[in-house]
Amino acid sequence: MKRAIISDIHSNLEALEAVLKDIDSQGITEIYCLGDIVGYGPNPRECIDLVMQRCKVCLLGNHDQGALFDPEGFNVGAEKAIFWTREQLEEHHGNPAESLKRWDYLGERPRIHKEGPIVYVHGSVRNPLNEYVFPEDIYSPAKLQKLFSLIEKCSFQGHTHTPGVFTEQCEFFSPEELPNGEFDLKSVSKAMINVGSVGQPRDGDPRACYVIQDEDRVIFRRVPYNYELTCEKIYAIPELDNFLGDRLKEGR
Ligand code: ZN
Repeated sequence: MKRAIISDIHSNLEALEAVLKDIDSQGITEIYCLGDIVGYGPNPRECIDLVMQRCKVCLLGNHDQGALFDPEGFNVGAEKAIFWTREQLEEHHGNPAESLKRWDYLGERPRIHKEGPIVYVHGSVRNPLNEYVFPEDIYSPAKLQKLFSLIEKCSFQGHTHTPGVFTEQCEFFSPEELPNGEFDLKSVSKAMINVGSVGQPRDGDPRACYVIQDEDRVIFRRVPYNYELTCEKIYAIPELDNFLGDRLKEGR
């Protein structure tokens, strides 16, 4: 069993295509997506189409939900991007049957996927859609203890755009701190794995991020892509703040 786990694509087609190519080059055919296909970026339709074709499992993210229903709890720039995204998904853009198919697909996404002792969510096992688990939460042991009490062995999650591994001992390891960027699930009783973000990394590295799950091995991957092109597209769309392009260059 070897699969790729991607998350937080955020309508970034260049990043998604680069990651899919990297996955293909390793002969991996099974892909899970932990949500936030859309929001922030310039290519929502193309990204949904690719995820529909390629992902065996895809969960609902908070930005996907924001596009489906009224956005709640987003900052001004993110909210503007969500309204623009919703507009792009309306039927008058291109083929109405395709628009409907994308709309249905987003609407049918589950919030949680479980396989034995392993659970897949967008945010956290306690609040799959909206809870953030940040590296600094290692200083909130009660929060981590509560989350781990709900996890049998391991959760894979996204949402913060910051990849790494949390242990029950309230430790956090970024991929750079792991030998060869790999983590062995057998080395701990429980873990929470954040797979990072394909389309808007925020850990200071602009390269797209995803994870390979190979039995008990978790391998963090970084993939360079043409973010200049994505930025230019964002700058050309008035409804998308220029900051959403700028941040891609720095991975913030
Ligand atoms: Zn996100």
